Amino acid sequence: MLKTKVNDLVVYYSEDDDIETIVRIIKNNYDMLFKSYVDEGYSFSTVPRDEDEMCVHTDDFQKDIGYLIEQYYYFTGDNILGNHENLSALYAMLLLQMSGVKNPFFDVDYEQTAEMTDTVIAKQYYLANGTAEDFIEYAKYRDPEESKKILTWLRETCRYETYNYILGRVADFLRDNGFDYLATSTSNNIFIDVIKSYGESQEKEYDLPKMSPEEIDKLFYDFLKYINAPDSWRKIYNGLKRKDGIEYTVTDGPEASYCYRNDIDEDYIISIKYNGTTTGFCSLVHEFIHYITFLTEKFNFSLAEFPSIYFEKVAANFLKEKGYSQEVVDETIASRNENNIQILMGLSTIFTDVNTYMKKGVITREDKIALWQNQMMEVYNLRQKYQEQLKALGKPVEPLAAFPSIEQIERDVDIDCDDSTKQFIVSDLFLLDGYQYLLGTSLAESILSQQGNASIPSMIDVVHDIPSYDANSIAEKFGIIKDSGNKNNMKKEKDINQ
Ligand SMILES: [Zn+2]
Repeated sequence: MLKTKVNDLVVYYSEDDDIETIVRIIKNNYDMLFKSYVDEGYSFSTVPRDEDEMCVHTDDFQKDIGYLIEQYYYFTGDNILGNHENLSALYAMLLLQMSGVKNPFFDVDYEQTAEMTDTVIAKQYYLANGTAEDFIEYAKYRDPEESKKILTWLRETCRYETYNYILGRVADFLRDNGFDYLATSTSNNIFIDVIKSYGESQEKEYDLPKMSPEEIDKLFYDFLKYINAPDSWRKIYNGLKRKDGIEYTVTDGPEASYCYRNDIDEDYIISIKYNGTTTGFCSLVHEFIHYITFLTEKFNFSLAEFPSIYFEKVAANFLKEKGYSQEVVDETIASRNENNIQILMGLSTIFTDVNTYMKKGVITREDKIALWQNQMMEVYNLRQKYQEQLKALGKPVEPLAAFPSIEQIERDVDIDCDDSTKQFIVSDLFLLDGYQYLLGTSLAESILSQQGNASIPSMIDVVHDIPSYDANSIAEKFGIIKDSGNKNNMKKEKDINQ
């Protein structure tokens, strides 16, 4: 008699057995069928064993396992997944398990393994497209080709349901963590607004004025006076410098600044990697405000970027008063935000869809098609205008590409939905960074555009007492008037959907 182990299960077999297949079947159903044997102290055997050993014995392993699978999955398997019975939730779960990402937007039940999810989905598939025997064959061998078929069926069956299910989870998360302000109080397209404003200034190229770390340091003291900062801020800054807590690196590559806790003494330090110009100064202001808020106890993490972005914008205004041009100020801020913009650009569709979902609920395929058509029409009109301009100048004009057929648009929209679904699953903390940035920018811009520097003293109080605020109480404190363009945007949205 021979003996092998599959995970913790001991398997006895004879030379005649096809042990590779047996091991494969056990592995494929380990979590749901075989793990319990281990827990109860049983081993498994295809040949007769002594009475005194705890042993499950099957003469005809493959046939008996088929029966076991049928009994188990058809009669008890339903209860195993509790509230994960609906297909779209299962599909989202499967994608999550396949990606291996710990996604902050989903409450994942880690007791439910990928094997369990796959099994329950397969059961639904064969109920709709096959027989119990087909299902048992699949459960035993998990043929990859068959897996692909099941995945395709799943995607086609519940594409938009899954997308809305995910939007729902993200919306819940955002509401629970104080981000809902973005959806309820600002114009429809905060995302687009932010991207556009920075995108425009980024298209121009300026030579920004050079600024050394020493100059930044000197300017920073002036800035503290300019905002009438409490004396403690100057002391904190001096303390940071004394312990070499601020590092500057000049780079030709991408800029990146951080305020982070170093591993050695668990103290926060500031690292500024900048292009040797005025951007370094705005970075220092941004990171210094992070440093001060990090000194307070834990706060609502939706506001993690808000005070820093606010003071960074004040720093840009300060530069202007120091005699720099508006263009330099714009470009400084734009260049500072390049990384954020990169994140936002890649995620703009899903930001827009989350926002729409939070405002009016489920997004249907028809909604997405209508939006898509609308966008294509805008692009088409722009191109047409451009061609007319060329014609007027007597330049050669190539005929415009035909407007895509409705079938083509439908296909594109479905693909876009699949892509966005995947993006939600794998985007992880990136998406959250994007939200912190958007919320911070939205609040900071509203406050500064409505109250300017008069808001600085109150903001200094906010920095000291940040744990007691969320986005809505900030809006209340500063009496931010909600965007009056809101109604028009809502109306436009309705028109599109008709
Ligand atoms: Zn920041």
